[in-house]
Amino acid sequence: MALLVQKYGGTSVGTVEKILGVAQKIKAFREKGDDLVIVVSAMSGETNRMLALANSITAEPSIREMDVLLTTGEQTTIALLSMALNDAGCPAVSYTGGQVKILTDSSHGKARIREIDESNIKADLAAGKVVVVAGFQGVDEQGNITTLGRGGSDTTGVALAAALKADECQIYTDVDGVYTTDPRVVTNARRMEKVTFEEMLEMASLGSKVLQIRAVEFAGKYNVPLRVLHSVKEGPGTLITVEDNSQMEQPIISGIAFNRDEAKLTILGVPDIPGVASRILGPISAINVEVDMIVQNVGQDNTTDFTFTVNRTEYDKAKKALDLVCIDLGAREVIGDNSIVKVSIVGVGMRSHAGVASKMFDTLARESINILMISTSEIKISVVVDEKYLELAVRSLHTEFDLDADA
Ligand code: ASP
Ligand code: MG
Repeated sequence: MALLVQKYGGTSVGTVEKILGVAQKIKAFREKGDDLVIVVSAMSGETNRMLALANSITAEPSIREMDVLLTTGEQTTIALLSMALNDAGCPAVSYTGGQVKILTDSSHGKARIREIDESNIKADLAAGKVVVVAGFQGVDEQGNITTLGRGGSDTTGVALAAALKADECQIYTDVDGVYTTDPRVVTNARRMEKVTFEEMLEMASLGSKVLQIRAVEFAGKYNVPLRVLHSVKEGPGTLITVEDNSQMEQPIISGIAFNRDEAKLTILGVPDIPGVASRILGPISAINVEVDMIVQNVGQDNTTDFTFTVNRTEYDKAKKALDLVCIDLGAREVIGDNSIVKVSIVGVGMRSHAGVASKMFDTLARESINILMISTSEIKISVVVDEKYLELAVRSLHTEFDLDADA
């Protein structure tokens, strides 16, 4: 008998039929003897519908009232699902975040969980009930309703699993697991049986949007085994857990991540003196533009070139700020490119293998793909290339690192 926290996302509870289906699924688990805490999202489209409603009332809705509004989406789902469960002969009780008491800080719209009171849930579990909790929400010290940020129900699931010391946190969604890369780009991408928290963080932050990044961070920090599964199709899904050193034959690379929303900016002929990096990047962070990769060339003739990447949607804004920096520093000129992409190979196995980078570069060279920038971490190597090479780069790396599914 296990204690499981199961989270069902918006598409999995998007219609009455789907809610009834989920109730049957939960009932079957219950009949096997597992204790179940269920976390649900709002029915798909609901959160966006409410955002639009608020914006049709006022251009600047109060963030406190916005949280009061948005949390009703999840509140609807917990009530409907609990009704369905009780109707199916599976005793269930619903809780809003405030009722559990999921205590958060007061940052409306992006609150952080501070503490969870698990006593009510434990009592209901002991009484044989399925506990259905609204995802994405909590309550602050003053009793104000808060939300955890878009996609926050994943975080609720993981946090509850941590607080209850659950055996597993299962994320039921509309895909059957985490893939070695996006199957829309590589048709024979493979579902991973297992991936480490660290790898998943790299994959998640690089664009495979299966899980909210914060949920993965949280799961890693509290060592909560996480599993991504399809809400209808049977299958083992993908387990996200700690690194397993007992396996002799670990894959070197676990997956290929990529991000299409990249742009780069270069400032040429900057005086090569102390403080320049901060004078270039200071104004960029002051306008809230996040910088990802940074490269500074070796200086020559007392000047140097400085390149960094930003999200493509912020390219124009960043370019304007950098043009001013250019004048201010007496640099030569600013050039930019907003048709680049980032492709990364990710794997904890590369820690213990030499030559991974050169294999990556060889592969790209063979396909005549020019590398514009490179950055590395312990478990990741990223390159920036022209966007026209994205598919080719991902496919050739996927094959070269033995990730293709068996035909
Ligand atoms: N309903 C919220 C959203 O759409 C939270 C979630 O689905 O996880 O972002
Ligand atoms: Mg969601």
